[in-house]
Amino acid sequence: MKPETSIQYLKGIGEARAKAFSRLGISTVRDLLLHFPRTLEDRSEIKTISDLMDGETVCVRGQLASDVRSYRARGRKSITQARISDGSSLMKVSWFNAPYIAKTLQSGSEFTFYGKAVYKGNFFEMTNPVVEPLTGQNKKTGRILPVYPATSGLSQDQIRNAAATALMELDSPLSDILPESIRKAYGFKTLMESLVDIHAPKSYEAFEAARCRFAFEELLVLQTGIRIIGDERKGFSATPIKNVKCIQDFAKSLPYELTSAQKRVINSICTDIQKNVPMNRLVQGDVGSGKTIVAAAAMYAAANSGYQAVLMAPTEILAVQHYRNLSKLFSPFGFETAMLCGGMSAPEKREAKKKIKDGTARIIVGTHALISDDTLFKNAALVITDEQHRFGVRQRLALTEKGINAHTLVMTATPIPRTLSLILYGDLDVSVIDELPPGRKPIETYSVGERKRKSAYEFVRKNIKDGRQAYIVCPLIEESEVLTAKAAVEYAENLKKNIFPDLSVEVMHGKLKAPERQEIMTRFSKGEINILVSTTVIEVGVDVPNATVMLIENAERFGLSQLHQLRGRIGRSSHDSYCLLFSQGGRIADERMKIMCETNDGFKISEKDLELRGPGEFFGIRQHGLPELKIANLSTDMQLLADAKKAAEDLLRLDPTLTSPMNSGLLNRVREKFLEVSENGILN
Ligand code: ADP
Ligand code: MG
Repeated sequence: MKPETSIQYLKGIGEARAKAFSRLGISTVRDLLLHFPRTLEDRSEIKTISDLMDGETVCVRGQLASDVRSYRARGRKSITQARISDGSSLMKVSWFNAPYIAKTLQSGSEFTFYGKAVYKGNFFEMTNPVVEPLTGQNKKTGRILPVYPATSGLSQDQIRNAAATALMELDSPLSDILPESIRKAYGFKTLMESLVDIHAPKSYEAFEAARCRFAFEELLVLQTGIRIIGDERKGFSATPIKNVKCIQDFAKSLPYELTSAQKRVINSICTDIQKNVPMNRLVQGDVGSGKTIVAAAAMYAAANSGYQAVLMAPTEILAVQHYRNLSKLFSPFGFETAMLCGGMSAPEKREAKKKIKDGTARIIVGTHALISDDTLFKNAALVITDEQHRFGVRQRLALTEKGINAHTLVMTATPIPRTLSLILYGDLDVSVIDELPPGRKPIETYSVGERKRKSAYEFVRKNIKDGRQAYIVCPLIEESEVLTAKAAVEYAENLKKNIFPDLSVEVMHGKLKAPERQEIMTRFSKGEINILVSTTVIEVGVDVPNATVMLIENAERFGLSQLHQLRGRIGRSSHDSYCLLFSQGGRIADERMKIMCETNDGFKISEKDLELRGPGEFFGIRQHGLPELKIANLSTDMQLLADAKKAAEDLLRLDPTLTSPMNSGLLNRVREKFLEVSENGILN
């Protein structure tokens, strides 16, 4: 069998199962072999019954010491039972709803059982143990087993069997993307040896060595891609924006004094944009720290020098909000603002594009619609992306390249650990807005149980009576935006009918059309809506200072950083703000809620998030626009990351375009992962 053969032709996999595999992104034998287990399950320990300890999970090897009994219990459950003996003592084994086990037990004389041994009424007992006849090769017991990221419709056993079959039937090797010289320099085994070690590990050490190799591969692809993009950028120049003093006039026009953190960041930006080397700066600032005005100050300098400045937002709601703010800010100076979003009508878009192209609009706001092919800028000198973690490197570059000579600024409320940002972004400069505008009171956060639901609603009502507004965030329903939207609609219906019939309650979710969403946001910001029931579409950036109460349903389904983002929608004025978290307990959930109640500090929260969720999920490196890591762990594999960085540098020094045949596998993988990022670049 060849690596590119469809897995449908593997023994034991038919059409239906192939379909289940395709949900994991697996369609060929190669895909299957590159679907790595996450961890191991240790079933290697075999104990005699007399040595068992109550509650331990181990293997026991023995013969039947009784007939196999099958019967139906109350509640129609079928039960299959037997006693076994290993010479040292007797043990009971029983299975629920697994009548086929009886057949297995008749097929041999000696078996290995793997399960949790519980001491009950003078006997040890295992319920639903894994059982395997002691003939030939043991597959499921007496050894270490890989544990794969699973999907519905596929059991671990099915994935294990498929991987084992694929390893056996493969008759031409997979091609290795690691150049031989690097593989040897870092002491990794060959690809085929490593595949065996990871799918059928003989020991923890062998598994870990193989895992390291594949993690290294992944990190090498990441580092190579990042370096290529970085090197391509190095060739760019940018239009210097000389007159930055004018920002003082802009600052004077504001109804408030900038915080000293905002001033510091604006100063750094000013130093950058006066140069003809493109600025490449990341601004990190907690929710509510006032990033928008920092962006606006830089945009003002560009516009005042006759150039265009672009602000790109991840959602239309946010783009429209920025559009309104910026129009208001800039119209006194005579700078026209244009907006371009996917949801606009064709004539509106045409009009906007015209103004962007002929330069009528100096201030340009929009979503990724701005990087569609046919949007042309007259002379964009500054490109800012808000909530950068939502954008891909690729999109940012595409936009950067529209203005060719643009300085770039990216803004985010999701902090990345400093060490990591250095390694991932290299030459990116980072500024931190570490101060909130004055007069902000910390949001008081409470974790509430179901019993308090009535009083929670009372509390919402009381705040609305006092003239405030509220958000209610509905649970995220995994895998489906449609279901999430539906749940929000039903939730809002119930509120309208049964809880707040006298108030204005509206619902907002991702399935609404852009104009509808806009209309609701406008009415909410005007104060015409008392309660906005919403999905996480309001997560980023939305700024309605009069909204001071947020109630979050099923808070345990959200990550800490996401809860913090959501909560950041309130606490935006001098009124007291309150966040109520409904959550279904559980130890981790409780711990998360406790952290939310204790601190308002986004950096602390993201650290905790990292601890509690593990970096893969938290960092969701995707959020930073980079290819996802499946096996490397950015917090524990720091050494591998450093090695991969060095290896990438060495490789590119010798072969800057990766054209040598021994690097072609790597180049292809980099291409596949990063897609084409630039027009002339080698990633094409
Ligand atoms: P974020 O950093 O989350 O994007 P925003 O830019 O939306 O924050 O700012 C949050 C709110 O704070 C806005 O209503 C903004 O007008 C206000 N704001 C920003 N800077 C200041 C300041 N220096 N003093 C008072 N209010 C400010
Ligand atoms: Mg913002």
